[in-house]
Amino acid sequence: MDLGIKDRRALVCASSKGLGRGCAEALAAEGVHLVLNARGSEALEATAAAIRTAHGVDVTTVVADITAEEGQAVVLAAAGAVDILVTNAGGPPPGMWTDWDRDDFIAAFDANLLTPIALIKALLPGMMDQGWGRIVNITSVAVKAPIPVLGLSNTARSGLTGYVAGVSRQVAGSGVTINNLLPGLHDTDRLAMLDAVDAAARGISEQAAREARTATVPAGRFGTSEEFGAACAWLCSDKAGFVIGQNILLDGGAFPGAL
Ligand code: NAP
Repeated sequence: MDLGIKDRRALVCASSKGLGRGCAEALAAEGVHLVLNARGSEALEATAAAIRTAHGVDVTTVVADITAEEGQAVVLAAAGAVDILVTNAGGPPPGMWTDWDRDDFIAAFDANLLTPIALIKALLPGMMDQGWGRIVNITSVAVKAPIPVLGLSNTARSGLTGYVAGVSRQVAGSGVTINNLLPGLHDTDRLAMLDAVDAAARGISEQAAREARTATVPAGRFGTSEEFGAACAWLCSDKAGFVIGQNILLDGGAFPGAL
């Protein structure tokens, strides 16, 4: 299927690795020109070079912390007007409810709630003026099935889910869609970090922690960044213009509910 987005321009935040990179690759495969961002330059430049070689699209890189106001300003200045925005950032650390003080919540809100809101607010007017735009936020399965050790994430991402539910409907008539993609367990550096924390806490090996986590997924495996990226590219496509304010779960069947 031709997704109808060749030569569109996309800003994909936090995209040198993992799910953000998966989204960038899938968009590039459809002929979308990219602005990529991460804090570390080495992986970012390597990803950009690989995408240019594989797909022949223009790729601009911006080294910046997307969760900081200055970082957002640098990224937005480099991106200019874009047709597609994929918001993403690292997830908050795991812990116990007793670990989290006000500053921890503020940091999580900055990263996973206020950053996507700031980027949406900055780029929506241009998309609305041209009568076409796509915004996809990478959130988490945690908004449907909160994960106890990820209380900071549960809290911040639930806020974003509520925000998107309202704004997506306010702007739907302008040709701009806003939706959330909810990753369940995907095989990225983030998951390896969570396995390492889990292993240390339970006194088991990281491999044992990984196997235990895999056993919670009916599909019998973790998802891949490629699969996640394909879903993102479809949501960003011309074909998905009637999908408004949805929360789409990619979790291999782990969430047990019917809806
Ligand atoms: P990952 O493999 O660790 O990759 C994170 C990417 O984001 C890297 O490119 C990293 O590059 C960049 N990044 C992190 N913090 C950044 C910042 N402040 N500014 C700019 N770039 C930043 O993580 P992932 O698994 O793809 O996860 C992506 C998001 O999905 C996270 O919020 C995570 O919590 C959420 N999630 C993941 C899973 C999963 O199973 N993987 C499940 C549910 C939710 P630099 O470090 O160089 O900046």
